[in-house]
Amino acid sequence: MVPFWPPLALGLLLALAIFPPTRVLSEALLLPALGMGVGLALLLKGSRWIGAGLLLSGLGEGFLALGSPLAYLAYGVAYPLLALGVYPLARKGRPGPTLLLVAPLALGLVWVGITSKGGLPFAFLDTALLLLTGFAGESALRGEGGTERLLLVSGLFLFGVADLAYLEVAGEGYALGHPVHALYVLAYGLAGWGGLGTLVPQRGALGGLAAAWTLLPPLAALAQAPLGFLLATYAGVLGNVGLLLAWERTRAVMEARTQRWIRFLEDLARLSPRVTQTLSPEAVLLGALEAARALLPQAVGLEVRSRRGLVGERTPHRLSIPLNGEAAYLYLRSLPEEPPPPGFLALLGERLRQVLKQVEWGALALTDPLTGLLNRRSLEAELPKLLALARRYEAPLSVAMLDIDRFKWVNDTYGHPVGDEVLKLLGRILQASVRREDLAVRYGGEEFLLFLYGADHLAAKEVVERIRYRFRHQRVDPIPYPLTLSAGIAGGEVPESQAQLEDWVLKADYALLRAKETGRDRVTMA
Ligand code: GH3
Ligand code: MG
Ligand code: MG
Repeated sequence: MVPFWPPLALGLLLALAIFPPTRVLSEALLLPALGMGVGLALLLKGSRWIGAGLLLSGLGEGFLALGSPLAYLAYGVAYPLLALGVYPLARKGRPGPTLLLVAPLALGLVWVGITSKGGLPFAFLDTALLLLTGFAGESALRGEGGTERLLLVSGLFLFGVADLAYLEVAGEGYALGHPVHALYVLAYGLAGWGGLGTLVPQRGALGGLAAAWTLLPPLAALAQAPLGFLLATYAGVLGNVGLLLAWERTRAVMEARTQRWIRFLEDLARLSPRVTQTLSPEAVLLGALEAARALLPQAVGLEVRSRRGLVGERTPHRLSIPLNGEAAYLYLRSLPEEPPPPGFLALLGERLRQVLKQVEWGALALTDPLTGLLNRRSLEAELPKLLALARRYEAPLSVAMLDIDRFKWVNDTYGHPVGDEVLKLLGRILQASVRREDLAVRYGGEEFLLFLYGADHLAAKEVVERIRYRFRHQRVDPIPYPLTLSAGIAGGEVPESQAQLEDWVLKADYALLRAKETGRDRVTMA
């Protein structure tokens, strides 16, 4: 819904400022009320300096109507306040196209300041404010600060034009109700519109701006200020061109922002492990950091404290990620100029929480809880990868089947919990005895399967003998005698197919059987 009241109110105020019967009323009452009202509204919205400046300048209009010299005091304070308000926006500005608008106006102001009686101090203040506004306008032209900044900057420009025309016509015989004050109505109206910007949709605000620049020359003509009219016409044309440019830039900035959000969301969506993929928490953090960099390119590190996960690096600049009470931080090379978009950190945190949980559950589903070794289900997923690796590098692969000797007896004599301790011990020994590429699987109750990458018969026998030796030399309370195991080994060549691997598993099982039959506590080759 486009609210009609701002343009209607401004149009009505302008009409009252122009038509002879109401002109005096307009300048004596409505203009001060408008100035102070706009100043107050901006103050309430938190814009301290500009709000106070406009409030005081509105007060000045009131004093002027009363013929009080206090008016000049009020203006004299108002302009520096306005300058203070514009300064932060102007600080990072570079000289650019807005100087085309500012320079002639500033020259005109200096000229009327010199030629009009007592106008020099105001021309000076005006020029200073205009120059600052010019720099602030550069950022608005680049599409920064959105419509609000455009409106504010335009309003302050209009004050420059209005002051120029006023100084030009305010000779000795300035009578209250001069149509030149319509220019001030326009300037206050615009600044107020900008200040209340969040209440006004962009289209409405931009329409108002275009109308203001367009109304500038006829209003100056009505004021019968020749130099004012000339410069108002110039400013009106240029202002509209600038407006189009700024609108286009604003649109481009928004478009780029949307694209960055889309990339961020896509990256977040890709964070979940795919079916064929086992992700580590570290990989999740890396993915999340990459996603965050789509929106905040200065992000260089991501940390989840409780899981002791850190990817990238720690820096002094960090943003706290809400993660269900866990301490999580995004580290930045430098602090961003604008705060991160709302919702960004919450979304990142929520997604991290989800995917880390998913990864944990995935790991649970793939490992045997008692021994921490792979279970048979994960063997199905891992074996094709190992096969491919061995074939690619033409590496031999050995299969070993291990079974604890007289294990039933352990359970029956010392109880199941002691049996579990034995299984855990063997799990630890297996994990410590194989390499990264190898697979150690709890195949059955107390049967274990090893796939040894790069190991021929001899190397495999060495590995399994070492396991047997270690197992034999560790004690589990309260079992007083050494524990032993038997093993069968098959394979030892470069595998050709999955079927061949399955065949090797069977052969290792047969070899194990022979080890049992020939007295246990030994390793037999297929
Ligand atoms: P052998 O030397 O011929 O292997 O004799 P064994 O007693 O070890 O015989 P077998 O391998 O058939 O014994 C399997 C036993 O392993 C039976 C079962 O009670 C025990 N077992 C299987 N899973 C578990 C487990 O998770 N915990 C415990 N404590 N025992 C288990
Ligand atoms: Mg068994
Ligand atoms: Mg056994």
